[in-house]
Amino acid sequence: MIKVLFMKKITIIVFVLLIGGLGFLFFNQVVIASTRQPANNSVKQQEWAIAIHGGAGVITREKMTPELDKEYREGLNKALQTGKNILADGGSALDAVEQTIRIMEDNPLFNAGKGAVFTHDGKNELDAAIMDGSNLAAGAVAGVTDLKNPITAARCVMTKSEHVMLSGAGASQFAREQGLEIVPPSYFYTKKRFNDLQEALKREKMGTVGCCALDKKGNLAAGTSTGGMTNKKYNRIGDSPVIGAGTYANNATCAVSATGHGEYFIRWTVAHDISALMEYRGLSLKEASELVVNEKLVKAGGSGGVICVDKAGNIALPFNSEGMFRGFATADGKEGVYIYQDEK
Ligand code: ASP
Repeated sequence: MIKVLFMKKITIIVFVLLIGGLGFLFFNQVVIASTRQPANNSVKQQEWAIAIHGGAGVITREKMTPELDKEYREGLNKALQTGKNILADGGSALDAVEQTIRIMEDNPLFNAGKGAVFTHDGKNELDAAIMDGSNLAAGAVAGVTDLKNPITAARCVMTKSEHVMLSGAGASQFAREQGLEIVPPSYFYTKKRFNDLQEALKREKMGTVGCCALDKKGNLAAGTSTGGMTNKKYNRIGDSPVIGAGTYANNATCAVSATGHGEYFIRWTVAHDISALMEYRGLSLKEASELVVNEKLVKAGGSGGVICVDKAGNIALPFNSEGMFRGFATADGKEGVYIYQDEK
């Protein structure tokens, strides 16, 4: 009798434990699922995707001539087609990012490479970074004065050095040793940018180029290259070469390249913040990037925008300034380049 009662008790305890355990598991799954929804908000996975920017700022139709508008769109398109073809042919996201940015660095219209803005002292100091989302490898150069294509130097830092960021003369020496193209500082002289400096001695100006890509293997990459802010002083370095601020890529979430007032993008770790909101809070690319750019940065007073691509090939191009030179293309045939706020 005692034995039977004991067995009954044991059965009840086991039963309660089982139900309790199942309940706990169920509750846990619901909570996890609700806080870690997949970042993918697209209808279907894109085979590849690319987004570019050519800087954000006070870019309005009133300030543009029809000729300049056309030139900028052609410049953006040329860069976009370069990256798009690499990705469609099965090339890597890293190659697409580097080659696309090189095209914009060679175009005097954009504030990167050839078209870099002038510092307060009448020099050109360039920053660039690239990041591989597949392994979180990254490379950056800052304050370089004689490298034709800083984005390629950044990629060399990533793949051929044990460091992440090299600056100034040391970065130039490293690039020289890697056989990269060195140009005299006068290469970066453009009349327009020099005149900009005269203007900006009263008012600071910005601009930058960037590219994010997803390749057919599912790898993400991001890159950013800039002359920084016109009239910058004391070897100032902006957000573009700072990993997590102006540039970030992680296959688990997204690739981001930023443009805007660098000091804010550094302090609000903008690029990584977008990735973190997706990773830890389950936000979609659109939700995460808009929260950071249109709410957090606006509240802080930091103007600018970002371009981003997620692991599913979704694209988001939010900005809080009056305009942003931007474009995108995806494997399903959608593409476009845009300048003003009122363009889709
Ligand atoms: N973010 C760049 C910097 O602060 C400038 C820009 O994007 O306009 O150096």
